[in-house]
Amino acid sequence: MGLLVVGTLAFDAIETPFERRTEVLGGSATHFAHAARFFAPVELVGVVGTDFPDQALRALEQRGIDVRGVEIAPGKTFRWSGRYEADWNTRVTLATELNVFERFDPKLPEAYRSARYLFLANAEPCVQMKALEQVTAPELVVADTMNLWIDIRLKDLEELLQRIDGLVVNEEEARMLTGKRNLFQAARALLERGPEFLIVKKGEHGAFLIGRDVRFALPAYPVEEVVDPTGAGDSFAGGFMGYLAGAKDLRPGSLRRAMLYGTVTASFCVEGFGVEALERLEKPRLEARFQELASLVTP
Ligand code: AMP
Repeated sequence: MGLLVVGTLAFDAIETPFERRTEVLGGSATHFAHAARFFAPVELVGVVGTDFPDQALRALEQRGIDVRGVEIAPGKTFRWSGRYEADWNTRVTLATELNVFERFDPKLPEAYRSARYLFLANAEPCVQMKALEQVTAPELVVADTMNLWIDIRLKDLEELLQRIDGLVVNEEEARMLTGKRNLFQAARALLERGPEFLIVKKGEHGAFLIGRDVRFALPAYPVEEVVDPTGAGDSFAGGFMGYLAGAKDLRPGSLRRAMLYGTVTASFCVEGFGVEALERLEKPRLEARFQELASLVTP
């Protein structure tokens, strides 16, 4: 009945203008789950290798995240490394080692199949589709994607677009998918291809929600000290969907509030490496920042 996420659990190596860290616990599903857990029970589906510390799974469990859907496969865990340039907005991927994720075939435990809210984190579109097909009656399905899949798996991605309610993209991906430079023209073209709404992420400049009958724009919360932006997009999605799953309300006003929760949750994520800051976070601080952001954007 809860909120289900399917995606990567990873070890990241991250270089920022100030620091270099290796073996950082990351992955799209990890970030999403750590963000969404404040609002609703989260179920996680993914795969790790035998090198993945049991203690990392226990840390997720201790925060109420159901990890029965995490498969442990022979081999190594997915690894990603990236570098942020001095302006923080440019991220260069240095290496992606799929490892056990290469043969990932999502199998949902029986208890997860009744999930109402589903987030398909960045993965090959046919893998996202396989997960989606195992959920019996989802009320809200949101998917993330990336330039690689737009390049090499466009047909599968087009099929997926017809089956989802929301798509999370950045500006570049919206343009690549539609060939349109103007963001609103690109959004309109994408809405004709399936989803009810799009979330367009603009990094430190915030995010747009563009749907058939809802449009909303928000700046990012002004964080004073960015430590590591990795996972900001996934924790935005976690806060957004977590709020909706908890509120059980998908009307436009609720979608707007979900945008604020996504923004606020992502702002905590970037204050630490990997999920460190989200692991430490407690709900009252999140709520206080929500109120602060709400007053920042209210005339
Ligand atoms: P974000 O900063 O929100 O785009 O998320 C970054 C997280 O996604 C990192 O923790 C990575 O481990 C993970 N990641 C990076 N590349 C991929 C990929 N190709 N597929 C799935 N997850 C990825």
